[in-house]
Amino acid sequence: MHDYGGVEQLFYEDGDKPTITEPNEVIIELKAASINHIDIWNRLGATGMPLRLPHILGADGAGIVAEVGANVANVKVGDPVCLFPPTGCGECEFCRTDRDYMCIRLRVLGERLEGTYAEYVKITAANCFPVPAGYSFEEAAALPLVFITVWRMVITNAALKPGESMLIIGIGGGVASATLQVAKKIGARVIVTSSSDEKLARARNLGADHGINHHKEKFVSVVQELTAHRGVDVVVDCVGGEVWRQSLASLSRGGRLVTCGATAGGQPNDDIAAIVSKQLKIYGSTLGSRQEFLQLMSFLNATQIKPIIDSVFPLREAAVAQYRVETAQQFGKVVLRIPG
Ligand SMILES: [Zn+2]
Repeated sequence: MHDYGGVEQLFYEDGDKPTITEPNEVIIELKAASINHIDIWNRLGATGMPLRLPHILGADGAGIVAEVGANVANVKVGDPVCLFPPTGCGECEFCRTDRDYMCIRLRVLGERLEGTYAEYVKITAANCFPVPAGYSFEEAAALPLVFITVWRMVITNAALKPGESMLIIGIGGGVASATLQVAKKIGARVIVTSSSDEKLARARNLGADHGINHHKEKFVSVVQELTAHRGVDVVVDCVGGEVWRQSLASLSRGGRLVTCGATAGGQPNDDIAAIVSKQLKIYGSTLGSRQEFLQLMSFLNATQIKPIIDSVFPLREAAVAQYRVETAQQFGKVVLRIPG
């Protein structure tokens, strides 16, 4: 991208191939990347973090190790890898206590670092992980950001247990569909909402127990009905805006709400009385730790869950691919295939 703005700011053109400058770095020949909302927010200039322009977007990628720095031991040239997007500064309070994801100078692919909508990307070797067994490069590129986010939200923060109930607001996006997959494997009862009957039908095929069309029905009333007026244990609301209050109202006493963003607006009306009287917990999170990522990779290998891929576009059609996500047409992940 050459400037902030709409998809017309994305250009398919030649740039410089990255070179290794630190002994712990590697160069990856990318085979696939995937689209995330963060890419769109970065393109719009909506994150508050200035980018160095021109800039290559893309937080997620998978490919083959092409070059390694002198001190790299965990991967070698030719290894297929998927990339863990964030790198901490290594020096702050949070990095020194193994919480890079809270680093005050956090560098994420496609943000402070050049991203994965490219043939080559440079990254710290510690961020290279083996592609899970049986995964294609496209599946491996679809997993990191969404699944690490879901893992931290649902497993670490919400601590979802078998037999609990969960409400997912706005099934369709990468995070929501991955949340559904993980929650069903854990053994939870899952209710999903969407404005699209087609997306609700797809969610039911993936194991959702109930689907609510929130354009036709007020979802909080249906949730209360479905739970005998108890409410659900966990709500995953990455939509915010107008629905936030309904999300709080859908929770049981002691319920947990988890969020990783607000695609419909970040300044919702809170119901503080409900938060207090029902003793609710609200967890915000972005990304996760390498330890959580390793745990997640073991879970994916054990359960054979694969990311749901909505569509695959060639790299040169990144603008079309982003538009599909920006206008919420997708179910699952939109992936870019990178020509070799
Ligand atoms: Zn740091």
